[in-house]
Amino acid sequence: MSNDNNPIIRISDVSKRFDHVTALSHVSLDVASGEKVVIIGPSGSGKSTLLRTINRLEDISAGKVVVDGFDLDDPAVDINKVRMEVGMVFQSFNLFPHKTVLQNITLAPIKLKGMAQADADAMAGTLLEKVGILEKANVFPAKLSGGQQQRVAIARALAMSPKIMLFDEPTSALDPEMIGEVLDVMVKLAREGMTMVCVTHEMGFAREVADRIVFMDEGQILEIATPAEFFVSPKHPRTQKFLEQIL
Ligand code: ADP
Ligand code: MG
Repeated sequence: MSNDNNPIIRISDVSKRFDHVTALSHVSLDVASGEKVVIIGPSGSGKSTLLRTINRLEDISAGKVVVDGFDLDDPAVDINKVRMEVGMVFQSFNLFPHKTVLQNITLAPIKLKGMAQADADAMAGTLLEKVGILEKANVFPAKLSGGQQQRVAIARALAMSPKIMLFDEPTSALDPEMIGEVLDVMVKLAREGMTMVCVTHEMGFAREVADRIVFMDEGQILEIATPAEFFVSPKHPRTQKFLEQIL
Protein backbone atom coordinates (compact mmCIF):
# COMPACT_ATOMS: atom_id res chain seq x y z
CA MET A 1 0.00 0.00 0.00
CA SER A 2 2.82 2.43 0.71
CA ASN A 3 5.12 3.93 -1.84
CA ASP A 4 8.11 6.19 -1.62
CA ASN A 5 6.04 9.35 -1.62
CA ASN A 6 3.70 8.31 1.14
CA PRO A 7 4.79 7.99 4.75
CA ILE A 8 4.26 4.50 6.12
CA ILE A 9 3.00 6.07 9.36
CA ARG A 10 0.90 9.21 9.28
CA ILE A 11 -0.21 10.63 12.62
CA SER A 12 -2.38 13.68 12.05
CA ASP A 13 -3.54 16.07 14.75
CA VAL A 14 -4.01 13.29 17.28
CA SER A 15 -5.29 13.99 20.76
CA LYS A 16 -5.81 11.44 23.51
CA ARG A 17 -7.54 12.05 26.79
CA PHE A 18 -7.69 9.72 29.72
CA ASP A 19 -10.32 10.75 32.28
CA HIS A 20 -8.66 13.84 33.62
CA VAL A 21 -5.40 13.77 31.73
CA THR A 22 -4.61 14.98 28.26
CA ALA A 23 -1.92 12.49 27.25
CA LEU A 24 -1.61 13.76 23.67
CA SER A 25 -2.59 17.14 22.35
CA HIS A 26 -2.68 17.78 18.60
CA VAL A 27 0.26 15.58 17.75
CA SER A 28 1.27 15.16 14.11
CA LEU A 29 4.13 13.02 12.87
CA ASP A 30 4.87 11.33 9.57
CA VAL A 31 7.39 8.51 9.36
CA ALA A 32 8.80 7.48 6.01
CA SER A 33 9.38 3.86 5.10
CA GLY A 34 12.83 2.88 6.36
CA GLU A 35 13.09 5.90 8.60
CA LYS A 36 14.30 5.72 12.21
CA VAL A 37 12.61 8.09 14.60
CA VAL A 38 13.65 8.39 18.23
CA ILE A 39 11.18 9.92 20.70
CA ILE A 40 12.53 11.46 23.86
CA GLY A 41 11.04 13.54 26.62
CA PRO A 42 10.37 13.57 30.33
CA SER A 43 8.30 10.95 32.12
CA GLY A 44 4.58 11.42 31.54
CA SER A 45 5.05 13.47 28.36
CA GLY A 46 3.01 11.07 26.24
CA LYS A 47 5.75 9.03 24.54
CA SER A 48 4.26 5.60 25.27
CA THR A 49 0.75 6.77 24.46
CA LEU A 50 1.91 8.09 21.10
CA LEU A 51 3.70 4.85 20.30
CA ARG A 52 0.65 2.83 21.30
CA THR A 53 -1.61 4.76 18.92
CA ILE A 54 0.43 3.33 16.02
CA ASN A 55 -0.99 -0.18 16.53
CA ARG A 56 -4.14 1.01 18.26
CA LEU A 57 -3.21 -0.35 21.65
CA GLU A 58 -4.62 3.07 22.55
CA ASP A 59 -7.75 4.41 20.87
CA ILE A 60 -7.48 8.08 20.10
CA SER A 61 -9.90 10.84 21.12
CA ALA A 62 -9.39 12.96 17.99
CA GLY A 63 -7.30 13.03 14.86
CA LYS A 64 -6.22 10.29 12.50
CA VAL A 65 -3.61 7.55 12.39
CA VAL A 66 -2.86 5.86 9.07
CA VAL A 67 -0.42 2.94 8.99
CA ASP A 68 0.66 1.50 5.67
CA GLY A 69 -2.43 2.97 4.07
CA PHE A 70 -4.84 1.66 6.71
CA ASP A 71 -6.87 4.22 8.65
CA LEU A 72 -6.89 2.68 12.13
CA ASP A 73 -10.26 4.25 12.98
CA ASP A 74 -11.97 2.80 9.92
CA PRO A 75 -14.29 0.03 11.15
CA ALA A 76 -13.66 -1.83 7.89
CA VAL A 77 -9.95 -2.11 8.67
CA ASP A 78 -8.86 -5.42 10.23
CA ILE A 79 -6.72 -4.17 13.11
CA ASN A 80 -5.18 -7.60 13.63
CA LYS A 81 -3.86 -7.49 10.10
CA VAL A 82 -2.31 -4.09 10.74
CA ARG A 83 -0.82 -5.33 14.02
CA MET A 84 0.93 -8.11 12.14
CA GLU A 85 2.82 -5.41 10.28
CA VAL A 86 3.78 -3.53 13.43
CA GLY A 87 6.08 -5.29 15.89
CA MET A 88 6.39 -3.92 19.39
CA VAL A 89 8.97 -4.34 22.11
CA PHE A 90 8.28 -3.14 25.63
CA GLN A 91 10.35 -2.24 28.64
CA SER A 92 9.16 -5.43 30.34
CA PHE A 93 9.92 -8.32 28.05
CA ASN A 94 6.56 -10.08 28.44
CA LEU A 95 7.77 -13.46 27.22
CA PHE A 96 5.47 -16.44 27.75
CA PRO A 97 7.03 -18.03 30.87
CA HIS A 98 5.84 -21.58 30.21
CA LYS A 99 7.12 -21.71 26.65
CA THR A 100 10.68 -22.17 25.53
CA VAL A 101 12.54 -19.45 23.70
CA LEU A 102 11.85 -21.20 20.41
CA GLN A 103 8.15 -21.64 21.20
CA ASN A 104 7.89 -17.98 22.18
CA ILE A 105 9.06 -17.08 18.70
CA THR A 106 7.12 -19.63 16.67
CA LEU A 107 3.75 -19.29 18.41
CA ALA A 108 2.36 -16.26 16.56
CA PRO A 109 3.54 -17.20 13.06
CA ILE A 110 2.01 -20.67 13.47
CA LYS A 111 -1.25 -19.46 15.03
CA LEU A 112 -1.83 -16.25 13.15
CA LYS A 113 -0.16 -16.91 9.83
CA GLY A 114 -0.66 -20.65 9.58
CA MET A 115 3.05 -21.24 9.16
CA ALA A 116 4.15 -24.88 9.21
CA GLN A 117 5.99 -25.96 12.37
CA ALA A 118 9.18 -26.85 10.52
CA ASP A 119 9.24 -23.54 8.66
CA ALA A 120 8.56 -21.65 11.88
CA ASP A 121 11.35 -23.51 13.67
CA ALA A 122 13.78 -22.74 10.87
CA MET A 123 12.83 -19.08 10.87
CA ALA A 124 13.14 -18.89 14.65
CA GLY A 125 16.62 -20.35 14.36
CA THR A 126 17.62 -17.68 11.89
CA LEU A 127 16.22 -14.96 14.14
CA LEU A 128 17.91 -16.34 17.24
CA GLU A 129 21.19 -16.37 15.37
CA LYS A 130 20.58 -12.78 14.39
CA VAL A 131 20.05 -11.69 18.00
CA GLY A 132 22.98 -13.83 19.12
CA ILE A 133 21.34 -16.49 21.31
CA LEU A 134 20.72 -19.51 19.13
CA GLU A 135 22.13 -21.72 21.89
CA LYS A 136 19.20 -20.74 24.14
CA ALA A 137 16.50 -22.00 21.77
CA ASN A 138 15.24 -24.73 24.09
CA VAL A 139 15.46 -23.05 27.47
CA PHE A 140 12.72 -21.25 29.34
CA PRO A 141 12.76 -17.45 29.73
CA ALA A 142 13.41 -17.59 33.47
CA LYS A 143 16.83 -19.07 32.74
CA LEU A 144 17.85 -16.03 30.70
CA SER A 145 19.33 -12.71 31.73
CA GLY A 146 17.28 -9.57 31.12
CA GLY A 147 19.33 -8.69 28.08
CA GLN A 148 18.84 -12.15 26.62
CA GLN A 149 15.10 -12.03 27.32
CA GLN A 150 14.80 -8.71 25.58
CA ARG A 151 16.68 -10.06 22.55
CA VAL A 152 14.20 -12.95 22.44
CA ALA A 153 11.36 -10.41 22.61
CA ILE A 154 12.85 -8.63 19.61
CA ALA A 155 13.21 -11.92 17.72
CA ARG A 156 9.62 -12.77 18.59
CA ALA A 157 8.39 -9.47 17.17
CA LEU A 158 10.49 -9.97 14.03
CA ALA A 159 8.98 -13.44 13.51
CA MET A 160 5.85 -11.84 12.10
CA SER A 161 7.96 -10.09 9.42
CA PRO A 162 6.74 -6.65 10.45
CA LYS A 163 7.23 -3.59 8.27
CA ILE A 164 7.52 -1.38 11.33
CA MET A 165 9.11 -1.94 14.74
CA LEU A 166 8.10 0.07 17.79
CA PHE A 167 10.36 0.10 20.84
CA ASP A 168 9.18 1.54 24.16
CA GLU A 169 12.21 2.02 26.41
CA PRO A 170 13.55 -1.45 25.59
CA THR A 171 16.64 -1.06 27.77
CA SER A 172 15.19 0.80 30.73
CA ALA A 173 14.63 -2.32 32.82
CA LEU A 174 18.08 -3.76 32.15
CA ASP A 175 21.20 -3.80 34.25
CA PRO A 176 23.72 -1.43 32.68
CA GLU A 177 26.00 -4.19 31.42
CA MET A 178 23.18 -5.64 29.32
CA ILE A 179 22.06 -2.47 27.60
CA GLY A 180 24.71 -2.70 24.91
CA GLU A 181 23.75 -6.15 23.65
CA VAL A 182 20.15 -5.03 23.09
CA LEU A 183 21.15 -1.75 21.46
CA ASP A 184 23.51 -3.68 19.15
CA VAL A 185 20.56 -5.73 17.87
CA MET A 186 18.55 -2.54 17.33
CA VAL A 187 21.43 -0.93 15.43
CA LYS A 188 21.69 -4.00 13.24
CA LEU A 189 17.98 -3.84 12.51
CA ALA A 190 18.27 -0.17 11.66
CA ARG A 191 21.12 -0.85 9.23
CA GLU A 192 18.97 -3.46 7.49
CA GLY A 193 16.45 -0.75 6.68
CA MET A 194 13.68 -1.45 9.18
CA THR A 195 11.25 1.38 9.84
CA MET A 196 11.69 2.07 13.55
CA VAL A 197 10.06 4.32 16.11
CA CYS A 198 11.93 4.11 19.40
CA VAL A 199 11.29 5.69 22.76
CA THR A 200 14.59 5.62 24.59
CA HIS A 201 16.82 7.50 26.96
CA GLU A 202 19.93 6.12 25.25
CA MET A 203 21.29 9.28 23.69
CA GLY A 204 24.24 7.49 22.08
CA PHE A 205 21.79 5.28 20.21
CA ALA A 206 19.69 8.32 19.24
CA ARG A 207 22.74 10.11 17.89
CA GLU A 208 23.95 7.11 15.93
CA VAL A 209 20.71 5.73 14.54
CA ALA A 210 17.99 8.39 14.42
CA ASP A 211 17.14 10.14 11.19
CA ARG A 212 15.03 12.45 13.29
CA ILE A 213 14.57 13.01 16.99
CA VAL A 214 11.17 13.98 18.35
CA PHE A 215 11.07 15.82 21.66
CA MET A 216 7.81 15.62 23.60
CA ASP A 217 6.62 17.40 26.69
CA GLU A 218 3.16 17.55 28.26
CA GLY A 219 1.49 15.65 25.46
CA GLN A 220 2.90 17.77 22.67
CA ILE A 221 5.71 17.49 20.18
CA LEU A 222 7.83 20.54 20.84
CA GLU A 223 10.66 19.86 18.45
CA ILE A 224 11.60 17.54 15.59
CA ALA A 225 15.20 17.69 14.43
CA THR A 226 18.10 15.67 13.09
CA PRO A 227 20.49 14.46 15.81
CA ALA A 228 23.07 17.01 14.68
CA GLU A 229 20.62 19.87 15.10
CA PHE A 230 19.00 18.43 18.17
CA PHE A 231 22.08 17.89 20.30
CA VAL A 232 24.06 20.89 19.08
CA SER A 233 21.42 23.57 18.80
CA PRO A 234 18.08 22.57 20.32
CA LYS A 235 15.55 25.27 19.56
CA HIS A 236 12.92 24.96 22.24
CA PRO A 237 13.83 26.15 25.75
CA ARG A 238 12.30 22.99 27.24
CA THR A 239 14.43 20.82 24.98
CA GLN A 240 17.49 22.73 26.11
CA LYS A 241 16.55 22.26 29.73
CA PHE A 242 15.87 18.53 29.25
CA LEU A 243 19.22 18.00 27.53
CA GLU A 244 21.06 19.90 30.25
CA GLN A 245 19.52 17.57 32.81
CA ILE A 246 20.39 14.32 31.07
CA LEU A 247 23.66 14.97 29.24
P1 ADP B 1 5.53 8.65 28.94
O1 ADP B 1 5.59 7.36 28.18
O2 ADP B 1 6.14 9.81 28.21
O3 ADP B 1 6.10 8.55 30.32
P2 ADP B 1 2.68 8.17 28.92
O4 ADP B 1 2.29 8.19 27.50
O5 ADP B 1 2.81 6.87 29.58
O6 ADP B 1 4.00 9.05 29.12
O7 ADP B 1 1.62 8.99 29.75
C1 ADP B 1 1.18 10.30 29.38
C2 ADP B 1 0.15 10.78 30.39
O8 ADP B 1 -1.03 9.97 30.28
C3 ADP B 1 0.61 10.66 31.83
O9 ADP B 1 0.08 11.75 32.55
C4 ADP B 1 -0.01 9.37 32.29
O10 ADP B 1 -0.22 9.37 33.66
C5 ADP B 1 -1.31 9.34 31.51
N1 ADP B 1 -1.76 7.98 31.22
C6 ADP B 1 -1.14 7.06 30.44
N2 ADP B 1 -1.84 5.91 30.38
C7 ADP B 1 -2.95 6.11 31.12
C8 ADP B 1 -4.10 5.31 31.45
N3 ADP B 1 -4.23 4.06 30.96
N4 ADP B 1 -5.04 5.85 32.23
C9 ADP B 1 -4.93 7.11 32.71
N5 ADP B 1 -3.88 7.91 32.45
C10 ADP B 1 -2.91 7.44 31.66
MG1 MG C 1 6.46 5.56 28.69
